[in-house]
Amino acid sequence: MDVTLINTFQAYGGSVNQRTQGAVEAAKLGAVGVIVRSMTTTLDNYPHTGSMYYDGLSLSQRIPAAAISTNGAELLSSMLSLNPKIKFFFRQNSRNFPDVLTHTVIGEIKGSEKPDEIIVVGGHLDSWDLGDGSHDDGAGIVQSMEVLRIFKSLNYLPKRTIRVVLFANEENGLRGGNKYAEVAKLKNEKHFFAIESDAGGFTPRGISFDTSDKEFKSLKKFEEYFNDYGVSFLQGGSGADIGPLKDGNIILAGLRPDPQRYFDYHHAASDTFDKINKRELELGAAAMASIIYLMDNYKL
Ligand SMILES: [Zn+2]
Repeated sequence: MDVTLINTFQAYGGSVNQRTQGAVEAAKLGAVGVIVRSMTTTLDNYPHTGSMYYDGLSLSQRIPAAAISTNGAELLSSMLSLNPKIKFFFRQNSRNFPDVLTHTVIGEIKGSEKPDEIIVVGGHLDSWDLGDGSHDDGAGIVQSMEVLRIFKSLNYLPKRTIRVVLFANEENGLRGGNKYAEVAKLKNEKHFFAIESDAGGFTPRGISFDTSDKEFKSLKKFEEYFNDYGVSFLQGGSGADIGPLKDGNIILAGLRPDPQRYFDYHHAASDTFDKINKRELELGAAAMASIIYLMDNYKL
């Protein structure tokens, strides 16, 4: 990952093809296996896992692939520079298990004036099971539920229907997000706004809007209410799970917490509950509740 990029998600996006496509590219060149340096900005002893694909390769063309820790990769590189003929032995016991049924979990408060217009707030329930997935995406799950709890505790009756969606299967094919959008379309549901938290439970720094320039300009009027909290508005992506809802009408958004530590824990055994800071988590939930409140009341 290019550590000179301030936004670690940009660094991740620029290098993750080493993991996703590494096996296919190396196999083309006659490799018998591929070792990938873990996608993290830190030096640690954890392999960080994630999706990889064999694309069009037949079973016999497929080569084994593994991520090793960044400390391990540094060691391997320095040993290779001392002795280019060094041999590397690795053995795997990975296998693909058959699919099982999992569920997207949904809860909502019905709108009092425009119940047919839906505002979604969500994250994803599944995680890579090396750790417990506290930042990816336990944080987003808890924050999404917290938005409804905040509204209930304030006795706030939303005008539009506010729906918490805890998506199944983001990490392994996005089937929860795809299914949700498919069912929404079948039911002819009108989705007005959707926001996802899937970038860790860290201090919120921004809200990213995936919408037209014109729409973004009109949303900017809400930004001043976030200034005191260090949260700014930007134009960009939203979230993987809500992405399939994109239809040219819905406004999509993503919570953008401070990105510097996210990849320390991403898809690794270190993504555990002790890495969650309650106050930072709460600030993220409050930012989402605030933008939903403003959208519900003041966005025509
Ligand atoms: Zn995630």
